[in-house]
This record gives sequence, structure tokens and C-alpha cells, in this order.
Amino acid sequence: MCKDVEKTDSIHQSLADKGLLPHEHLVDTGYVDANLLVESRRKYGIELIGPVRNNVSWQAKNPEAYDLSRFQINWKTQQATCPQGVKSSPKRRFKIDKWNNKEILFKFPRKTCRECQFRHLCTRSKTEPRELSLRPQEEHLALVERRKEQKTQTWSKKYNQRAGVEGTISQAVRGFGLRECRYVGLSKVHLQHILTATAMNAIRLFAWFEGVPFAKTRVSSFAKLAPD
Ligand code: SF4
Repeated sequence: MCKDVEKTDSIHQSLADKGLLPHEHLVDTGYVDANLLVESRRKYGIELIGPVRNNVSWQAKNPEAYDLSRFQINWKTQQATCPQGVKSSPKRRFKIDKWNNKEILFKFPRKTCRECQFRHLCTRSKTEPRELSLRPQEEHLALVERRKEQKTQTWSKKYNQRAGVEGTISQAVRGFGLRECRYVGLSKVHLQHILTATAMNAIRLFAWFEGVPFAKTRVSSFAKLAPD
């Protein structure tokens, strides 16, 4: 089955074909990736707005420890300098991560790392030296920038605009049977989707004019047990 992240580019291409490219595209985390942040901007002029995964390493969770932000990266020489001023090996090495993304490996000298008195803040490996795996420069910088900005209120406020669409999707699925199709063939399916969307708009407009109050969010049986 196709993953969400694999669809982002084709969605942008299809919007470009119709001359409907937005300046900003608010998406959930499944549609965002460092490469897509860069490519959406470069190919389509779109600012892809969605949260990326945070750095979940143990070093990032301990303020004393040496997480990625404590290392200086020289992209020209493709060498990293650790908080103790030690440079990674100048030998360039690459790998492909489990999501098929290219990464650059920065490996520090084994002997120096073994003897380093700050090793406990840097790596949990008993014998191996510290190693960093980073996305290529542009992608890495986009990732770092997004991780920083997604913690700000300004960014959250902008991203909150997306919240409403989940209710729309839910209404379409539960109230209008969007997950099933009565026709065979993509063009007929597409027509059904357009008719469903039109019917939803008409019903929502009617409810708006009639002052129908919003339904309350469903509370699960388990959540109902919680004291007020
Ligand atoms: S363990 Fe290696 S990379 Fe980490 S601080 Fe010490 S010398 Fe630098």
C-alpha cells in the first residue's frame, strides 16, 4: 500500500497541472519529510506546513548530553566537530535509512572517543565511537528549522487552521459513505466524490443558515469513567 508521504509530490503535481498551486499547504505529519520540505519549495514554490518528527534520541532528552545541536557541521568538508573539539573522519560515507532516504555518516576517531572523559554524555556504545547520520545539507537544515519553528506559538496558530478538515473528513466518511463507491472506474468514482462534496457543502450551508449547533465531540466509554 502507498504511504501518505509518497503521495505529497503527486498531489502537488496534480494541483500544478490544474493551475491550483497554493503558496502554503497544511498537511498532517504523514505527508511531511525533510526532502519534501525542500522539494515542495523548489519545484512548486509551496511552503509545506506540517510537523516533522522530533529528535527522539536519548541525548536530545538529556540537557547535559551531546545531542546533534551540540555538534558543528562543516558542509564543505563534510566533517563534524564534537563539543570537545574533535573532528569526524574526512572519509565520506553514505547510507540509505529504512525510509529510503540518503544519509551522510560522520564518524569520530575510535581511539579518541574511547579515551574521551565525556563519552557517557555522547554515546552509550561500549566500544564504538560516536557516529552521526545526517540528511544532505539542504534537507538537514530544513529539518532543523522546522523542528525549531514547530515549537513556537506562531507556527502552532497557523497549523491549527488544519484542525477543521478532520471534522469534514469524518462527516464525509460517516455521514456520506465516502469510503465506498457505487461505481467502477476512476472517472465515475471522481464524479461521485464531487457530488458527495457538493451535497456536504449544501447540507453545511443549510445548517449554518438554520443556526444548527455543532455536534459535541464524542467521548469514549473509557474517557467517561474519568472523574471531572
Ligand atoms: S566521545 Fe568522541 S565525539 Fe563524543 S565528545 Fe568525546 S571525542 Fe567527541
